[in-house]
Amino acid sequence: MAAGGAVNRRKFLLASAGAAAGAAYVWRRGRTTAPSITGTMAGPSVDLGHLLRDGGIPEPTDERQVPVVIVGGGVSGLSAGWKLQKAGLTDFEILELESEVGGNSRYGENRVTPFPWGAHYLPLPTEESRIVRELLEELGVIEGYTPDGQPIYQERALCFAPQERLYMHGRWQDGLMPVLGITSRDRDQYERFREIIDHYTHYQGADGRKAFAIPMTFSSRDPELLALDQLSMQDFLFQHDLVSEPLHWYVNYACRDDYGCTSSDVSAWIGLHYFASRDSSGFEHVQVLTWPEGNGWIVRQLHRKLEDQIVTGALVCRLENHDSGVRV
Ligand SMILES: Cc1cc2nc3c(=O)[nH]c(=O)nc-3n(C[C@H](O)[C@H](O)[C@H](O)COP(=O)(O)OP(=O)(O)OC[C@H]3O[C@@H](n4cnc5c(N)ncnc54)[C@H](O)[C@@H]3O)c2cc1C
Repeated sequence: MAAGGAVNRRKFLLASAGAAAGAAYVWRRGRTTAPSITGTMAGPSVDLGHLLRDGGIPEPTDERQVPVVIVGGGVSGLSAGWKLQKAGLTDFEILELESEVGGNSRYGENRVTPFPWGAHYLPLPTEESRIVRELLEELGVIEGYTPDGQPIYQERALCFAPQERLYMHGRWQDGLMPVLGITSRDRDQYERFREIIDHYTHYQGADGRKAFAIPMTFSSRDPELLALDQLSMQDFLFQHDLVSEPLHWYVNYACRDDYGCTSSDVSAWIGLHYFASRDSSGFEHVQVLTWPEGNGWIVRQLHRKLEDQIVTGALVCRLENHDSGVRV
C-alpha cells in the first residue's frame, strides 16, 4: 500500500477489522436503536411550487425584451442554450426557478467528493443520438472514431464492472438479473427473453426504421409495433409464456427504474424500448459513462459555457402569446 511497506495489505485489513469491531462494540453499548439518518429533501422548491399552483404572484415591475427565452435550466434547457450559442446566438436567457441549474441532473459536493443528486450515468449514445455525440465530442468525452465509425470514449468516463450488483440471499451478485438460487426453468426463460430482446433490437418496422430508437422519435411507426402500446409489459411477458418470478422481478425493476411505474402500469412498447433501444448487444451490461457528480458533470460543463445567459431564482408563472411574440 504505502511506499516502503509502512502499512502492508495484511496490517491494513487487520487494522480495519479492529476499527469496525470497535465501532460496533461502542454502538451496541451506547444505543438501542440504529443511528438515524439526518438530511433534507433536495430538489424542487416546494414553496415555489405552491406559489405557482395557488397564484398570488405579484405583477411584474420591470420589463425587458429578449429574442429567445428558455424556461427551465435542466439538461434540456441547458442543451438548448448550448445549441443556440453554437449557432451564434448569445442574446437569450435561461430562466431557472431554483437557485441552481441542473434539475434532475443536479449535483452536490461535500468535503470528499462531488456527487449526483439524481441522474448518475449516461448510457453510451446510440448512432441516432447525434447531438449527444456532438456534445460529448466537444466536452472531450468522445476522443475520436474507429475506422468503422465507433466512438472512442475517454477511459476515465467509462464505468467499468461491476456497475450494478444485487444483494440477495445474503450475498452480492454481479448484475441486476437474479442468478443466485434460480432454477433451470428460470434460466431457460431468461434465454427466451434475451432472444426476444435481441429480435427487437435488430428489428426494423415496415417504414424501414429501427423498432426502438433513442431519441424515441426515430422509432418506427409501424402499426404492428405501435400495437404494443395497448398491452402492459407484464401481459407481454405472459403472452410469451414467460412466467419466471425472478424474470418478472427484473423486468418490473427496469420499468420502475426508468418510468417510475410497475410493469403492469407501463406499456409493452415502452417496456421493450428500455431493453431494445440501445446499440450494445446484450442488455444486462449496457456500458455507461459516469463522473463523480454523475450527469451533473455535464451540467457543470454547460453551466460554464452559459454563465451569461442563466438567470436563477426566476420562476416562470405565465406565458402569453401575442402577435409580437410571447410574454413570459
Ligand atoms: C432520481 C433520478 C435518477 C435519474 N437517473 C438517470 C440516469 O442515471 N441517467 C439518465 O440519463 N437519466 C436519469 N434520470 C433522468 C434525467 O435526470 C432526466 O431525464 C433529465 O435530467 C431531465 O432533464 P430536463 O431538463 O428535461 O428536466 P428537469 O431535470 O426536470 O429540469 C427542468 C428544470 O426546469 C425548472 N423549472 C420547472 N418549472 C419551471 C418554471 N415554471 N420556471 C422556471 N424554471 C422551471 C426546474 O427547476 C428544473 O431545473 C434520472 C431522474 C431522476 C429523477
